[in-house]
Amino acid sequence: MRILVTGGAGFVGSHLCEKLLSLGHEVICLDNFFTGRKQNVAHLCTNPNFELLRHDVIEPILLEVDQIYNLACPASPVHYQYNPVKTIKTSIMGAINMLGLAKRLKARILQASTSEVYGDPAVHPQTEAYWGNVNPIGIRSCYDEGKRVAETLFMDYHRQNKVDIRIVRIFNTYGPRMLANDGRVVSNFIVQALKGEPTTIYGDGSQTRSFCYVDDLVSGLIKMMNQEQTVGPVNLGNPKEFTMLELSNLITTKLKLDIKPIFQPLPQDDPKQRKPDITLAKKHLDWEPTIPLEVGVDYTILYFKRLLKV
Ligand code: NAD
Ligand code: UDP
Repeated sequence: MRILVTGGAGFVGSHLCEKLLSLGHEVICLDNFFTGRKQNVAHLCTNPNFELLRHDVIEPILLEVDQIYNLACPASPVHYQYNPVKTIKTSIMGAINMLGLAKRLKARILQASTSEVYGDPAVHPQTEAYWGNVNPIGIRSCYDEGKRVAETLFMDYHRQNKVDIRIVRIFNTYGPRMLANDGRVVSNFIVQALKGEPTTIYGDGSQTRSFCYVDDLVSGLIKMMNQEQTVGPVNLGNPKEFTMLELSNLITTKLKLDIKPIFQPLPQDDPKQRKPDITLAKKHLDWEPTIPLEVGVDYTILYFKRLLKV
């Protein structure tokens, strides 16, 4: 198949492009390089089945493809809050443009949605049936509401125009190719610890997240795209839950760092808890994560050691 990956030069997108090529597909990687990097896919550029396009999903594009993975959108709070208007335009206009393309081509299209659609959840763990608790006017809203409207657009194109859609809600994912200045917690703590600096814990560190290694996520994305049981939404994430204090301890212990973390103010609307219920992913995709945090963090530390030359 010929497959379009928007946001393909980003963290998750580059791993997805690599996997799709290894499965024998042709891949068109489309990216505006806001948080993505050419280096992330440089090793794929000699592959005749790979094509790299600089393009912004806010603008329409005409291509001939069989499947579309729509990943274009900055995912780290630091980056999506840098230009919030652009972030919401990317989610909404990007969804409209890609859905229009899918409609014209009769191609299947998968939306990379997010656990952020649950906001600061009052239901724990989060099932797909939960509608969420999202502040519509806060500093995270450009991302959360953008992704929620994108889900609405996907469902409406599906109901109204019979577009063949899939929606996944991705929970915190980490691994090699995250940017050193990405701002998300796993990369922050590892980079800080490797530099011998204290980790920065926002709030008291009791808030929880559930971390999925990128290879597990990519296998879930591909399974979701290629099954006929459900259009979704389906949660993809690792149900093992950690506090940020536990994550900091895990990383500093691995790196034998004997410095206490420093505590900084908790950002506005920071969700207190997050953990996916993955019953649907198990049932429809026969998918569950295989790489525990303790192991995935080792791979990620190795990556950052090479990147930072420490
Ligand atoms: P990332 O920032 O590394 O990747 C996003 C990619 O999209 C980058 O390459 C960026 O340059 C590109 N992009 C941004 N705006 C664009 C635009 N207007 N036009 C074209 N390209 C654009 O983030 P990621 O972690 O790889 O996330 C990929 C997708 O998965 C995002 O849609 C994100 O919302 C979703 N997601 C990720 C996580 C996670 O924990 N990694 C969690 C939930 C959802
Ligand atoms: N966080 C932290 N220190 C950091 C970066 C993040 O304590 O240096 C916290 C953040 O406040 C949040 C959690 O870690 O509670 C996960 O943050 P991240 O930005 O990785 O993802 P998200 O909040 O979008 O889940």
